[in-house]
Amino acid sequence: MEYVRQKIRDVYEFPKPGIIFRDLTTMFKDARAMHIVGWDLAQLYRDKGVTKVVGIESRGFIGGAIMAYEIGAGFVPARKPGKLPADTVRADFAKEYGTDTIEIHRDAITPDDVVVIHDDLLATGGTMAACYELVKSMNPKKVYINFIVELSDLHGRDNLPKDAEVTSLIVY
Ligand code: IMP
Repeated sequence: MEYVRQKIRDVYEFPKPGIIFRDLTTMFKDARAMHIVGWDLAQLYRDKGVTKVVGIESRGFIGGAIMAYEIGAGFVPARKPGKLPADTVRADFAKEYGTDTIEIHRDAITPDDVVVIHDDLLATGGTMAACYELVKSMNPKKVYINFIVELSDLHGRDNLPKDAEVTSLIVY
């Protein structure tokens, strides 16, 4: 995992002064890092009876799709508003400036499903907390939460539901 960590690029003062942005695109473009990440994500959930992986737009689609393929689950996109064509369920959540919304197709998850929600990175946890509540409202048997990277100094885990089982591959 040290190899993967070294492939993540730190971009200073992005998207605004004082922020260090952890740029995962430099990791995604590296074949060996992708192989390691894909394998390690799959290892976390291989034996948990997972039927659906929900990936959060847009970088959550990358690891989420790889995980779903590796563990033999289906993939469900959680998207920004207005992108999904059929009937959706949606959740609004607070961002640093204003609010944001995510949507999932209403028929994407059923009570028979065991779900992993995947995103590339945990910062404040607002995005994942909203997605978790949305998926929970669809009454699947179980919901897990997973990230490739967790920024621990932002204490995002404190904003996730206490009963949630959360994993991440790399912690800063
Ligand atoms: P949160 O809702 O504050 O936890 O923000 C998480 C979302 O913002 C994820 O979808 C990330 O893709 C994105 N994000 C926030 N900070 C970073 C970063 O440093 N690198 C990459 N993505 C980030």
